[in-house]
Amino acid sequence: MTAEINPAQIIDGKAFSAKLVERVAEASASLEAKTGVKPGLAVVIVGEDPASQLYVRNKGETTQKAGMRSDTHRLPDTTTQNELLALIAQLNADTGIHGILVQLPLPAHIDANAVLDAISPDKDVDGFHVVNAGRLAVGQDGLVPCTPLGCLMLLKDQLGDLSGLNAVIVGRSNIVGKPMAQLLLGESCTVTVAHSRTKDLPGLCRTADILVAAVGRPEMIKGDWIKDGATVIDVGINRVPSKDPVKAAEGKTRVVGDVAFEEASKVAGRITPVPGGVGPMTIACLLVNTYTAACRTAGVQPDDLLAR
Ligand code: NDP
Repeated sequence: MTAEINPAQIIDGKAFSAKLVERVAEASASLEAKTGVKPGLAVVIVGEDPASQLYVRNKGETTQKAGMRSDTHRLPDTTTQNELLALIAQLNADTGIHGILVQLPLPAHIDANAVLDAISPDKDVDGFHVVNAGRLAVGQDGLVPCTPLGCLMLLKDQLGDLSGLNAVIVGRSNIVGKPMAQLLLGESCTVTVAHSRTKDLPGLCRTADILVAAVGRPEMIKGDWIKDGATVIDVGINRVPSKDPVKAAEGKTRVVGDVAFEEASKVAGRITPVPGGVGPMTIACLLVNTYTAACRTAGVQPDDLLAR
């Protein structure tokens, strides 16, 4: 007799993020009606990298869809560090702008850390500034990196109270793994952060009620690494050759996550797909952060965007 397989519930990040953008739009309109403050996001891009140009265009369109002010500053790749810093200073001083995002990567002649450090922490909607990392670590209100914030929203929407759950995060980057760990600790999970030196990673993953994969290695996490019924959040975005050998030979690719989705979805209770899981949440959370920053400027408490 074969064991019964209950396929995992697919966590639809695309649908959730679309609803979230609508809620941000409503909350922003109500903030503007009450206080006259219209949330504004400035996105700065240096150079012509096509992928970055596409991300920036998407961000601008989504910001406008949410009824916010959207400014895009496109600078040539000959821009000097001082010119970029001067623009950041101008945006820091602009009272109509509540969020500043500098699209990475920057050209090699510009020190990205110096630029990110120059953004006012209260307008740092990427949440990368060391002041915001510190605020998150000590549990103060700050701006939280968008991708882990999106993961947390999906988890709370799916599971409600996360208190007491075992969470394993694979990856310890400053933009995903570490802030994810802080957020889950803040929700009273028991958190373990794994990385490239972790011993017996499969065994550790099997202890997780919540498994967050943020590694950047295609389909590394296998089905038999996952505890029955666990919730799996796959942050990874990896391009691999198309399954069709003819298309692969033409250089066609497809996107996969860090989790072997087909096998994992036979064991997990819930799982995010790639694409369509965490990815769309990142941009929605950029708007959440811009709205939050605008509320703080106006001295009002942001609406609870997760309330149904
Ligand atoms: P980084 O490369 O900065 O970090 C990767 C982490 O994975 C490191 O901590 C590294 O460990 C760990 N790691 C690497 N190999 C292994 C291994 N064999 N076993 C265990 N751990 C390992 O990546 P990011 O955090 O920036 O991104 C992770 C993934 O998420 C990428 O695929 C990226 O494209 C994606 N991403 C998706 C976003 C979205 O919007 N959905 C946004 C941001 C990222 P160590 O520290 O020891 O080197």
